[in-house]
Amino acid sequence: MKLIETIKKYAQTQPDTLAFVNEEEKLTYGELWSQSERLAARIQSEALTDASPIIVYGHMKPVMAVSFLACVKAGHPYIPVDVSIPADRILKIINSSKAELLLNNSGTSVDTGDAFISVVEPGVLEGDGVPETDPARWVDGEDTFYIIYTSGSTGNPKGVQISAGNLQSFTDWITNDFPVESGQVFLNQAPFSFDLSVMDLYPCLQSGGTLWTVTKDMINRPKLLFEALKQSNVNVWTSTPSFAQMCLMDPSYSEELLPELSLFMFCGETLPASVARQLKERFPKARVFNTYGPTEATVAVTSIEVTDDVLNKYSSLPVGSEKPETEIVIINEDGKAVQDGEKGEIIITGASVSKGYLGEKALTEKAFFSYNGVPAYRTGDAGYKENGQLFFLGRLDFQIKLHGYRIELEEIEYQINQSRYVQSAVVIPFYREEKIEYLIAMIVPAEHDFEKEYQLTSAIKKDLGSKLPAYMIPRKFMYQKEIPMTANGKIDRKRLKEEVTV
Ligand code: AMP
Repeated sequence: MKLIETIKKYAQTQPDTLAFVNEEEKLTYGELWSQSERLAARIQSEALTDASPIIVYGHMKPVMAVSFLACVKAGHPYIPVDVSIPADRILKIINSSKAELLLNNSGTSVDTGDAFISVVEPGVLEGDGVPETDPARWVDGEDTFYIIYTSGSTGNPKGVQISAGNLQSFTDWITNDFPVESGQVFLNQAPFSFDLSVMDLYPCLQSGGTLWTVTKDMINRPKLLFEALKQSNVNVWTSTPSFAQMCLMDPSYSEELLPELSLFMFCGETLPASVARQLKERFPKARVFNTYGPTEATVAVTSIEVTDDVLNKYSSLPVGSEKPETEIVIINEDGKAVQDGEKGEIIITGASVSKGYLGEKALTEKAFFSYNGVPAYRTGDAGYKENGQLFFLGRLDFQIKLHGYRIELEEIEYQINQSRYVQSAVVIPFYREEKIEYLIAMIVPAEHDFEKEYQLTSAIKKDLGSKLPAYMIPRKFMYQKEIPMTANGKIDRKRLKEEVTV
């Protein structure tokens, strides 16, 4: 596979170039290659089922990149799992993926329940000689390269399988069609369990750059973050618009702080025109790109440079035109392609489309199909095309983005409904100026002995804490006698949304 070959080439020609930097550690291309070779040999000694997935657990450390590379060199896809994922969810991922090996880079122990899975700690692997993996074993073409678990409406996360071919098509697009030069410093903000991280990790490694990661400690302590950013020499900024918006609240977030910054790449949620405008004012030398796509079509499939002309022309920014090897079709409710300018569901076709959800045939058949003989994915996003530009108009279902995180409201509702204190529940996003600020759980409680509502809330939150990541737990809990229904017996989400919108 070209990506792996290219990393090998850098390891040979510029072994001392830094591939990965975090607040405490550094890793060169030479080390990335030799450590991943050693770990790949260790993985091969485990005699796993061919191409069975390997869970890579940890946060933003260099050993994560070593582990990913080791897995694919040993012929196995990897499943990145961040330390923010709670124990119950990790068990679900272990069981549904049938992973036989977990690489634990977290520095703490991990509960694998009664699953049949070995645990290896790559950080403590030692050895002198560097074995060489056989390139014929490396994942390639249709083989799955990684599996990323996203929120699922049935209450279980679902694993999106991305092949080596999918990833290569994406990585080539970013390195060829964006102003990315060799040897640049890429900001990595998203934990590896979110596919936004793929937008910096692999384009960075394919262009001989250095990945500069932001840990969750730094995000929680902006003063630390800004001090570190000042030393970073970041050239390429990849993040959710929400993260950039948060940084913009600090007046020192400007060209003075990051004089080398030349490119912003955004994905994952709407980029407000106001954010793009402020970035262009604060970083006059940098170019800003809005990109769009779901995990199921490998990070992003459309892009547009947000120039002054674009800002003058549109109050809501378009998400751009398709990458090579990709075509977007808008279809109506009858499944027929619509005319330019007409609204419908966004269908993505071509080389970026995943082969489906791991072990979930029914879910895969619902979302993935063949369109004129080409792999296609129903995004569930509404939109329209005009003069080659795609416009995003929101969701057709109950999937939302909160601070850049993809969440199925039904998954949260499913978990709240599991609590013995709950009779029924619905989760409503609270909007301010068309942006979701937080989630509200509206609950009809079951019988309970708590005197005060806050006691009930903390009991339900405690139940949720072991099942859902913190970003999925509603901030506000409201108790009702009943949940309002529409005339045809569905939860009246529209009315509930209006009730809580300011
Ligand atoms: P994820 O799988 O986490 O990348 O989430 C994919 C979803 O995020 C898409 O289906 C859209 O609903 C939303 N999304 C991604 N990029 C954009 C964008 N540039 N503007 C608006 N929404 C976006």
